[in-house]
Amino acid sequence: MKILLSTLFISLSLSACTTSESTTVTSPALDSPRNIIMVVGDGMGPAYTTAYRYFNDNPETNAIEETVFDRHLVGMASTYPARVSGYVTDSAAAATALATGVKSYNGAIGMDVDKKPVESVLEWAKKQGKKTGVVVTSQINHATPASYLAHNESRRNYNEIADTYIDEGIKADLYLGGGWQYYIREDRNLVNEFKSAGFHYLDDFQSLDKLPQQKPVLGLFAKVGLPWALDDKDKLRLSTMTKAATKQLESNQGYFLLVEASQVDWAGHSNDIASAMAEMTDLAKTMEYLEHYVKNNPDTLVVLTADHSTGGFTIAANGKYEWKPDVLRTMKSSPEKVAKHLVDMDITVKSTSDLLNFAVTPAEVNLLQHAKTQGAKEVIDFKKLDKNAQQQMKKKPSIKNSIYVAVKKLIDQRTNSGWTSGGHTAIDVPVFAFGKRSELFHGNIDNTDVAKKIFTLLGKK
Ligand code: MG
Ligand code: ZN
Repeated sequence: MKILLSTLFISLSLSACTTSESTTVTSPALDSPRNIIMVVGDGMGPAYTTAYRYFNDNPETNAIEETVFDRHLVGMASTYPARVSGYVTDSAAAATALATGVKSYNGAIGMDVDKKPVESVLEWAKKQGKKTGVVVTSQINHATPASYLAHNESRRNYNEIADTYIDEGIKADLYLGGGWQYYIREDRNLVNEFKSAGFHYLDDFQSLDKLPQQKPVLGLFAKVGLPWALDDKDKLRLSTMTKAATKQLESNQGYFLLVEASQVDWAGHSNDIASAMAEMTDLAKTMEYLEHYVKNNPDTLVVLTADHSTGGFTIAANGKYEWKPDVLRTMKSSPEKVAKHLVDMDITVKSTSDLLNFAVTPAEVNLLQHAKTQGAKEVIDFKKLDKNAQQQMKKKPSIKNSIYVAVKKLIDQRTNSGWTSGGHTAIDVPVFAFGKRSELFHGNIDNTDVAKKIFTLLGKK
């Protein structure tokens, strides 16, 4: 029976590979989805999806409105890396686990603990004749997308990783995100190399709705990562890119698409609740679009999880039983951008209220003024140090950074948000799934199971 089934499977696979009929590649016995969309909320521990519920709540109604995350929660996943790295993962080891089903050391990109390359679900999907794509708000060679596309001993080898996107064979039909700094360099212009390989290149968002059909696409929209959602011209840029990607990748064989809300993590690292909620809004709108997409394309599976949680974010702090996201709902610029403006402006109730788009108190203005003076003092003291002492300082003091920290503190006090770390924390993360075969992801799983289940659906034994 086993032999019979595998013979059947091989002949089906062969026929799927040699024709462009509307047959699917994987065995019908598995009843696999034609399209698989893997979504990663980088750093999005459970506090982020919960906070989004209250941030998104309409206070005028009695009910607390359900979110797209509430509708599709199916379980939790553990995130610990390989033994050598302890219990707390970084994004590279976690993405390697999600992409390949193998736990590795922190920093590893698509490699196991012995630094041997391990195959990703994206690479396997490509071999099965599916189209493949990545959509991220970081640079496209950042740890999460890189773990699906490359094999490198360190996530920090950004240029090397960028090179492998060409040198190890082009593995995706679509790349959308940031990264000019790594793809257009003095020693090598990878954008031109992609163009020579037949790619359509774009560097502005407006061109996303007129992509040439049936052509592979490289879209780079920023030097490194995209701007914060709060500061971007298109505050729903992940959603915009995902819409374009699903249209572009549609094919008889189906596709595997990785979508990453990369900057939830960056907001977590900088303990910035305003940016975190804006990134979560962009992710929520992306998931709502995918909900709609699956209704029209039921032969699609969508899985969302996080690689870890970041910042030790808590919804309420300081012994107070309250979390007040109201000021976050009106903000139109990131705290970072507000701080940048305040470097060259007089810090007054009016200027600060205008920039934050909520009314600040004179006491809050005092705090910001104090931070500015303090920052200026630190810069002067820094300049007095000798070169050696300067180099030993982890972070060069700056007036902007000093104000930035104070703006975030002001917002934390207003909202009563708490943080325990500037890094990652090891709590389990939520798993969301909907669409065809989504029941496979129900329950308490490990991050490696996500890849293992996708491999099964893609017919890998
Ligand atoms: Mg990431
Ligand atoms: Zn991180």
